Amino acid sequence: MPDLPTRPPRRTEETAPFWDACAQHRLVLPRCVTCTQLIWYPRRFCPACGSTDIVWEQMSGNGSVYTFTVVRRGQGPYKDVAPYVLAYVELDEGPRLLTNVVTDDVESIRCGQRVRVRFDAAGDSDAIPRFEPVGTSGNDSV
Ligand SMILES: [Zn+2]
Repeated sequence: MPDLPTRPPRRTEETAPFWDACAQHRLVLPRCVTCTQLIWYPRRFCPACGSTDIVWEQMSGNGSVYTFTVVRRGQGPYKDVAPYVLAYVELDEGPRLLTNVVTDDVESIRCGQRVRVRFDAAGDSDAIPRFEPVGTSGNDSV
């Protein structure tokens, strides 16, 4: 499968720590100090309790496919890379990220499939998180 297109992320004040960590191949999410809830998508305040006391915490990078679709006709920069998998990955820590599951065998992907984060270079020094299957039904199967 050809590499999925990547473009450098657009940083905002809220997302800059996330993208800075991705550039170092680390997946971090904000956590509310007051009520301990993980926050996704990054915000300046906790959507659960309104607190602005937020710390960035490293995630394990492990998760599972919550739901997904196989895109068979991509558009724009994705025109030549279909089929590919667009998925919500539920991190082991709880939050669900809209992302790609990168695999040569899109038909092997199932809900519940275990996946692990990887970082694809984007632009000069950035990277974006995607996921790849781990375990028996992933990249090691033929
Ligand atoms: Zn909170």
